[in-house]
Amino acid sequence: ATMPPLLAAVANAGRHGVLVKSAVVMERLGEVDTVALDKTGTLTEGAPQVTAIRPLPGPGPAEETLLTWAAAAEHGSEHPLARAIVAAARERGLPLPAADEFTAAPGIGVRATVGGARIEVGAPARLLPADHPASATAGTLVAALEEHGLTAVLVLRDGTPAGVLGLADRLRPGAAATVASLQALTGRMPMLLTGDTPRAAARPAAETGIVDVRAGLLPQDKVEAVRAQQTAGRRVLVVGDGVNDAPALAAAHTGVAMGRAGSDLALETADAVIVRDELATVPAVLTLSRAARRLVV
Ligand code: ADP
Ligand code: MG
Repeated sequence: ATMPPLLAAVANAGRHGVLVKSAVVMERLGEVDTVALDKTGTLTEGAPQVTAIRPLPGPGPAEETLLTWAAAAEHGSEHPLARAIVAAARERGLPLPAADEFTAAPGIGVRATVGGARIEVGAPARLLPADHPASATAGTLVAALEEHGLTAVLVLRDGTPAGVLGLADRLRPGAAATVASLQALTGRMPMLLTGDTPRAAARPAAETGIVDVRAGLLPQDKVEAVRAQQTAGRRVLVVGDGVNDAPALAAAHTGVAMGRAGSDLALETADAVIVRDELATVPAVLTLSRAARRLVV
């Protein structure tokens, strides 16, 4: 028998490094007219490096102590920022104390008990206590790091701001060209969905030409951004990597996950997986789908 065009396209996509989970998904990819890209780990490499360690001045901890607390609490997280923080502690040869009662809140951060103290690490906008006297100073440190295009991560000890870490991430190779191809294919500039702050999203957006940036989003906010487009009659492709992207991947017309950077949940939820995280395969597979659909009678 001759292979049906959509099935042949699935095989072809596989050769391009895209695991398309079914012929139905292959067909739906060609219907996409709007693309929503996650930032961290999708448009960027998601392999950030700790480039700034800023304890609160005055009674704050030493730099290495701050990093040790943060790394101990982050040890149980698979978030790219968590991995970078643990790696930074390891590079400095800091022994990591055990952490108990670890919990992670997607899009917000982590919490654990380290040496009897409650350590929280995560998004300053979510974790900075409104009524704490040290919050103003911590906020100033955060703003200074973000102005340099870094992602700022707040560290709290027993509810008191202890310091801020600054992390730098890089665009994936070909990110700008991929965004341009997706715009050409769909007739619409992709949008950027991120749990990160507007300031941290500004540089990757500017470098790829993306104008429509939705920042500070929780997982459910990403879903709502996708639903709003779909209610307006659009067929949305979501590309993401994180646990925080899984609900949006499920809500999308088609969801594509990053194979290497991606969390298990994202890979399981997505309709297709970019096995080697090569962004350029996203427009390639849309083109394959369109060509196959033309052959289906
Ligand atoms: P994105 O949508 O860009 O992939 P996420 O939703 O994963 O980003 O994270 C949004 C923000 O939440 C991060 O910028 C960070 O401030 C905070 N955050 C989430 N998880 C963690 C973590 N494990 N450690 C530190 N910060 C975290
Ligand atoms: Mg992400």
